[in-house]
Amino acid sequence: MKLINIKKELDLKKVENYKEILDPTYIYLPININKSKVYKGEIIGNYTISISGKVNNNIIENDFMEDIKPLDQDFINKYFSKYNDIANKDMIYINAIDKDPYCYNRYYILKNNMDIINDAIEYILDKFNIKKATIVLTSSLAEFISKLKASTTYNNIIFKVVDDLYPIGFNKVLKDKLNIENEKLIINIEELLDVYSLIKKKIFNTEKYITINGDLIKKPIVLKVKLYTKLNDYLKFLSVTSKDSIIINNSLCGKLVTSEYIVTRDADLFIIVKLKKDNVDLCNNCGLCYRVCPVMINPLKKSSKCIKCGLCNYICPSKINCLKVGNNNE
Ligand code: SF4
Ligand code: SF4
Repeated sequence: MKLINIKKELDLKKVENYKEILDPTYIYLPININKSKVYKGEIIGNYTISISGKVNNNIIENDFMEDIKPLDQDFINKYFSKYNDIANKDMIYINAIDKDPYCYNRYYILKNNMDIINDAIEYILDKFNIKKATIVLTSSLAEFISKLKASTTYNNIIFKVVDDLYPIGFNKVLKDKLNIENEKLIINIEELLDVYSLIKKKIFNTEKYITINGDLIKKPIVLKVKLYTKLNDYLKFLSVTSKDSIIINNSLCGKLVTSEYIVTRDADLFIIVKLKKDNVDLCNNCGLCYRVCPVMINPLKKSSKCIKCGLCNYICPSKINCLKVGNNNE
């Protein structure tokens, strides 16, 4: 497995700006709602409503009351049953490494939530009778270790620093790198905010960190926003025009979206670029795409093991979209 320091190769700078925008006028759900008022934390279909307010089909107008509808304990217990696989283990791992080199969500989650992270880890360790947790960070996040240590009284949280190489933030790659027996022992750091929200407020977390970055963004920024807001609510302050392309989540193989995109739990990163058309050459059978693949598959053939990291596309000297050729881009 050949991991690459993409941040260094592309000379990417740290995202220095952070802002919370948690009072949207509207949120937009992908389903129509059959009632006139909803509450923050209410579950409708698969969606957790992120504000309280008046309903008009699929649009909710904020009443700025933050009226909460807590979940009942049975529902919460059902959520925690997803962690049954980690019960009674000696160690779990908290993945605090952003998946994409342009993304800084986990950096700011660490920076802003040290007490919450410590409490949520301790809650999980206690509830599931686990001995220890390892927070895994890259060398560029190591600055937080002493602060995290200072903010906790628990001695069952330890730290592991790995090199900042792509795609180490993917759980599958981290598992192999650290010889972790089962991917289910890895918990993403966002989940700790969800756990904390459930134990303290009895609602699912309704907020989301997103990074807006890319060549056309003068001041890349991490935002903390409400779920189901429109991307355009944020882009309009960043002078992004309708001609600019927006790539979601992965700088090497992410899909194009429009500014009308609705921010869901899965949306982490928006990269704003002017797309240029590369001249694509024929495959010269150099094998680089195969050698770079972190899960050791042939990128030019379909495989369920593909984690869609895009390294094969990045490395190909002929600029071939290997993911597309191998039909692994769905
Ligand atoms: S085939 Fe899939 S896992 Fe392998 S390098 Fe390409 S995108 Fe990554
Ligand atoms: S890296 Fe590109 S040129 Fe080389 S084998 Fe793969 S697809 Fe062909």
